[in-house]
Amino acid sequence: MSEQDRRLRRPRIAATVAAAALFAAVGTVLALTTPWNPLPGPVPGGRTPTDPSADYSAAEIARSAAFDAAINPPAYAGLAAGLVLILVLGLTPRGARLIRFATARVPRRWLRVLVATVAVTTLLWVVGLPFDVWGETVLRDYGLSTQGWSAWFVDELKSLGLTWAVYGVVLLLLYAVVRRFPRYWWTGAAFGGFSLVVAASFAYPVVVEPVFNEFHSLPQGRLRTDLLAMAERDGVPVEDVLVADASRRTTSLNAYVSGFGSTRRIVLYDTLLESPPERVESIVGHELGHADSRDVLWGTLVGALAVAGAVCLLYPLMTSPRLLRRAGVVPRGGNGAGGNGAGENGDQAREGGGAADPRSVALVLAAVAVAMQVGAPVQNLVSRRIEARADVHALDLTRDPGTFVSMQHELSVRNISDLSPNPVERFLWMTHPAGPERIAMARDWARLHGTRVPPPLSGG
Ligand SMILES: [Zn+2]
Repeated sequence: MSEQDRRLRRPRIAATVAAAALFAAVGTVLALTTPWNPLPGPVPGGRTPTDPSADYSAAEIARSAAFDAAINPPAYAGLAAGLVLILVLGLTPRGARLIRFATARVPRRWLRVLVATVAVTTLLWVVGLPFDVWGETVLRDYGLSTQGWSAWFVDELKSLGLTWAVYGVVLLLLYAVVRRFPRYWWTGAAFGGFSLVVAASFAYPVVVEPVFNEFHSLPQGRLRTDLLAMAERDGVPVEDVLVADASRRTTSLNAYVSGFGSTRRIVLYDTLLESPPERVESIVGHELGHADSRDVLWGTLVGALAVAGAVCLLYPLMTSPRLLRRAGVVPRGGNGAGGNGAGENGDQAREGGGAADPRSVALVLAAVAVAMQVGAPVQNLVSRRIEARADVHALDLTRDPGTFVSMQHELSVRNISDLSPNPVERFLWMTHPAGPERIAMARDWARLHGTRVPPPLSGG
């Protein structure tokens, strides 16, 4: 064990313990606050079984299955290609080589961090692009996309620019503290990670959303009056309902709540405004449920805590001599043994080696990718229960399960949603319960409240 290893031993243990404590806190909070059973009591006669054929025609079911079969290959292949690429860049010297090449003539260290970030994220974008094109082609085949290819490509470029901005800022800050506080940067970085997630979620509706869509207030009229009256009846302060010009991109229907505090907003896709007003009320009832239980704020705080834990975990990874050598970065204070080829020692003199070396950017981004992949299924699991709670809120507010059922039917048919997702799809992608599950819960709600149970829509 070198002197350097000995010096880093204590902070490494401390960072690992802090990460474990933060993850345990997140797990406990989620276990205790997730609405595992959103209905207020046991349903008389047991739960309604989920059965797509009760409400969807054979043609609707077949179309959903065909779309699912067409959209899955680009989705899975794109996910796999992105993961393989970032793992190869992060866990072999290839990423360090790419960065050394891209930053060879860049004079300042902070600028090298920025160029490294741009180089790696752009390569990931380029490799992902064919899969995005493939997916977009499927959306076109099924009439879900209304965009021309040039407008679509501009969106892709905007996403890339946003990635540069976000990762650029985050990694500049990270490498600044890593360099300044080699032993205890993880404390500042964890706190910084927490603060950035909260700030980003707050700013998202006013900074990011306008990059992709234009928003205007729902015009004066019966719908607006009804929706605001419903919000008032619900005790949720809503001054405005916004409409996004989603129809320039998609035919799908959606609504959402974003931001919190002064940036909180309820947004309807303009595609939704052609639906009957009672159905729009049913959707807005759901969104008011999110506002009422402060789901965005809560999700942000829990997510920020998990990010802080992940940042602590970054410390033992980034100070592991084995991992750094594997990534083609010479460990700090190391003698270059196990390095790869000429130029290593000169670079080490320039960068000081170790985690502060901008060539470790690929390793950091690989760790981020793995963390997001591990976190997503947990997020999805919790999200599905929170969405079900918002559905119950809509039913409590409108007391109209019949309209709720027809709205859910319209949503899944228009969006060609997966009516019976398999466990892998559920695990990887499903943030909401599937349409038939939401409909089954509306029937449970009706039986629980002794009101008329909505009859099957398809008669089949
Ligand atoms: Zn929702």
